[in-house]
Amino acid sequence: MNSFGWYGALVALEFGLAAVTVVALLWIRAPYGRYRRGGWGPTVPARVGWLVMESPSVVVFAAVFAFGAHRADLVPLVLLAMWLCHYVYRAFVYPALMRPGTRMPWLVVALALAFNLLNATVNAWWIAELGGYATSWLSDPRFLAGAVLFFAGLVVHMRSDRTLRRLRAPGETGYRIPYGGAFRWVSSPNYSGEIVQWFGWALATWSPAGLAFAVYTTANLAPRAFDHHAWYRERFPDYPADRRALVPHLL
Ligand code: NDP
Repeated sequence: MNSFGWYGALVALEFGLAAVTVVALLWIRAPYGRYRRGGWGPTVPARVGWLVMESPSVVVFAAVFAFGAHRADLVPLVLLAMWLCHYVYRAFVYPALMRPGTRMPWLVVALALAFNLLNATVNAWWIAELGGYATSWLSDPRFLAGAVLFFAGLVVHMRSDRTLRRLRAPGETGYRIPYGGAFRWVSSPNYSGEIVQWFGWALATWSPAGLAFAVYTTANLAPRAFDHHAWYRERFPDYPADRRALVPHLL
């Protein structure tokens, strides 16, 4: 099999994982955060878990990128910078800012780590090797629209992460109703923003791997967003009635 054949097989695997994930999450709530419970094996401090499972998205992406034939070309470098904007935040800044004290199962960390190894590899491989972008791609409407969506989604999810973080005083572990920003419209704007961001990436890279990641992110986060929404409504009688789970005014 040539490079495109292997790449196609790995991307197909990622689409397959998205299908398995969405079906599994219809039955099982991923056992971290508010759904953490016994029976999922040994646990690790959540900030260590986030660092371990997300840092390969920086390290492996950079390593695969460094071997790509187009690693010094302008478009791959711009796309690398976009990827790092997200993953330096998610792998290093987000865990550093998290309130200490919560834990997550190693199993969740291991599954996310395995996915991130695959996802970082196929995305970097496309960008630095197989994509073969001309510099004119930077003025293509698909790149421009994708970049706008990517950064808009990034801002929404980072701002929403911050709002959630500020709901608790130091040492507190309970839950409150979040208000402000995109929480006016949906219960999980951190997830909405992340999903928009990766569809923006799919558009900006115009790649099978980018699309697979956007689909996987939706498969992973949409069921959790609906669970969060139902969870808030069950526990808070004064929960804003017009707020939706994931998509303003719709879903
Ligand atoms: P959650 O919204 O479940 O939790 C985010 C943080 O905020 C946690 O520390 C949580 O504490 C705290 N928190 C949430 N709601 C409240 C509340 N009402 N009151 C007080 N504190 C609250 O998000 P996730 O942990 O699932 O995800 C974190 C980030 O990672 C998100 O931005 C998400 O988009 C991204 N992500 C991306 C994935 C992908 O496939 N691309 C997969 C998973 C996450 P606690 O942990 O104690 O509940």
